[in-house]
Amino acid sequence: MYSHPTALVIGAGIGGIAAAARLARCGYQVTVVEKNAKPGGRCDQLIRDGHRFDIGPTLFLMPEIFAETYAALGERMQDHLDLRRIDPTYRIRFDDGAELALTSDLHAMREQIEAIEPGSLSGLLRYLAEGHLHYHLALERFVGRNFYNLLDYFSPQNLPLLFQLKALKKHYDNVGNYFQHPHLKAAFTFQNMYLGISPYDALATYSLIQYTELADGVWFPMGGLYRVIETLESIAQAQGVRFRYNTPVKRIQVNGNRATGIVLQDDSELAADVIVANADLPYVYRHLLPDEGAAKRLGRLKYTSSAIMFYWGVDKSYPQLGVHNVFLSGDYRASFDRIFKDKTLPDEPSFYVHAPARIDPATAPAGQDTLMVLVPVGHIDDAAAQDWGALQARARVAVLRRLAAIGAGDLEQHLKFEASYTPRDWQTRYNLAKGAAFGLSHNFMQVGYLRPQNRHPRYRNLYFAGGSTHPGTGLPLVLLSARLTTERILKEMGVPQPAPDLKFATADAA
Ligand SMILES: Cc1cc2nc3c(=O)[nH]c(=O)nc-3n(C[C@H](O)[C@H](O)[C@H](O)COP(=O)(O)OP(=O)(O)OC[C@H]3O[C@@H](n4cnc5c(N)ncnc54)[C@H](O)[C@@H]3O)c2cc1C
Repeated sequence: MYSHPTALVIGAGIGGIAAAARLARCGYQVTVVEKNAKPGGRCDQLIRDGHRFDIGPTLFLMPEIFAETYAALGERMQDHLDLRRIDPTYRIRFDDGAELALTSDLHAMREQIEAIEPGSLSGLLRYLAEGHLHYHLALERFVGRNFYNLLDYFSPQNLPLLFQLKALKKHYDNVGNYFQHPHLKAAFTFQNMYLGISPYDALATYSLIQYTELADGVWFPMGGLYRVIETLESIAQAQGVRFRYNTPVKRIQVNGNRATGIVLQDDSELAADVIVANADLPYVYRHLLPDEGAAKRLGRLKYTSSAIMFYWGVDKSYPQLGVHNVFLSGDYRASFDRIFKDKTLPDEPSFYVHAPARIDPATAPAGQDTLMVLVPVGHIDDAAAQDWGALQARARVAVLRRLAAIGAGDLEQHLKFEASYTPRDWQTRYNLAKGAAFGLSHNFMQVGYLRPQNRHPRYRNLYFAGGSTHPGTGLPLVLLSARLTTERILKEMGVPQPAPDLKFATADAA
């Protein structure tokens, strides 16, 4: 039976494509069914009037994890992606007019941060040393492995990790050990928003992000982040994976403790030995499976923030913007409370602007700009009064006002077109539960073995790969999820597998 086992993958997000390609390489006959017309999920792309936008991810971090995925598929990342390092990583603008360009150049960094807080260079060096420890310990012992039971997770070997990784401490509190000035504390914690969590709730472990950005770099694949999707899809196809687009799944069929197949929107049925759900895990429980109790329990978990997005094609270039620009609001704490407690748009929103034409001129016509704006907001909450149209309009005014302050006051007159997403779009386009842009949150009770596992507890051939299962959200972690899920399938379904390798292939991105 296992000479040609079959697998169905629900969703062609990066997690679905990577899991499909890995399974195909191990001898599975794989079909991917995707509701949308093209692959990518949140890592989507919009091309209009000569402007090319990445819809979701714009930051390529942790290149070694991407390199491991290509290597596991028998390919070399550098044959598929032309990666360019972005340094300074970000230009941060505070609301009092102060600026900081985060960079791996320690001399340039010293000049800037010492001007803000004398003596802070030593704090930075200690902070990066801690981030280095967190990054490597977390990847090797926590994020890059499966936990098969609670004892596996809370084992005597793992317990010291709680302290070494500062998993019981909040990130914002911890950064106070290294910096006192609010600008520096903000500059070295706002990155938690990539995981859709507040630095006031995030584990101090997540200093690993600031470390990897400065040490391993922030990269940009020429052609945009969508190149990752295009190249992985074509590698998967070469391994024999069949992709079916415009094919929404209506239901997963179950019998006893097995998932037997899927029912498509047109009521046709497909059967397989193994099913991998890449669609957002809480959505799968609520809409594709029969167990309402489990869906309700998942509904009560913590979710990440959402985002109001603007995609602007402009007929002028704005040199005051770098590739990655962060505009932070004055009341840092209040802005997170408004997002995570009140589930709304902060009174003074912080936001991020991506202007890729500086690194990749093909993203805009000559002399013009392609601007993507991400404004973090609360996720959809039926109990909160949320008028997304009004919040979208308020976000737009706030962004244009801040951009005017840096000399881009004429931007609205130079708009050729605008596309915009609210949390409702994240929900309907990609079936993200509550429109939470990054899926389930990553608080202490929702990571490791405590996060919904990558195999269904009852249906023993139904697996998950994606941002809302172990190890978590963001492109690198979702690639890890695809790897861990595939390893688990091969282990549990009895197909011979190569020895698990927790050491990642060396990234020769540089
Ligand atoms: C605004 C934004 C910015 C981000 N920025 C970054 C960044 O800079 N760097 C980074 O690393 N990460 C970033 N992320 C996170 C990253 O995009 C996600 O973690 C990752 O793309 C999730 O991939 P996935 O495969 O888990 O899920 P998805 O991308 O959600 O894919 C799931 C797929 O399942 C499909 N599907 C759903 N339901 C069905 C159904 N019933 N039938 C068939 N198909 C179905 C969906 O259409 C989708 O294609 C960002 C996310 C957002 C939203």
